[in-house]
Amino acid sequence: MVAGNCIFCKIIAGSIPAAKIAETDDIIVIKDIAPKAPIHYLIIPKKHIQDIQSLQPEDADLAGKMLFMAQSLSVDLGNVAFRLLVNNGADAGQKVFHLHFHFLSGKQMFDY
Ligand code: 5GP
Ligand code: ZN
Repeated sequence: MVAGNCIFCKIIAGSIPAAKIAETDDIIVIKDIAPKAPIHYLIIPKKHIQDIQSLQPEDADLAGKMLFMAQSLSVDLGNVAFRLLVNNGADAGQKVFHLHFHFLSGKQMFDY
């Protein structure tokens, strides 16, 4: 499913460039264009899902694969510590309404 005006759908379709870190049948990982940490990746399902509330029971496998992708990224980086963040809803800071996990690493992180 592709949402016409969605920047991440356009990146997935290849019509907007992005620095790709990893890709599977279901998921793409790109570098965030405005990194908030030395390593700032976005783990994005290829299926257009607006947010966590929009997840359906049939997306359970996909949601799990997103977590395992975080594990795999960490392993590839030498088992680094990382923070996974989801801004879920405009009031929580979500700006791109296509579900994504922020994968943040490479600096000491304490409080939120
Ligand atoms: P949100 O605020 O929705 O949780 O996060 C959206 C993230 O997407 C932001 O960290 C922002 O820097 C990133 N972003 C927005 N547009 C683009 C883009 O065109 N390319 C890439 N690589 N990241 C983007
Ligand atoms: Zn989308």
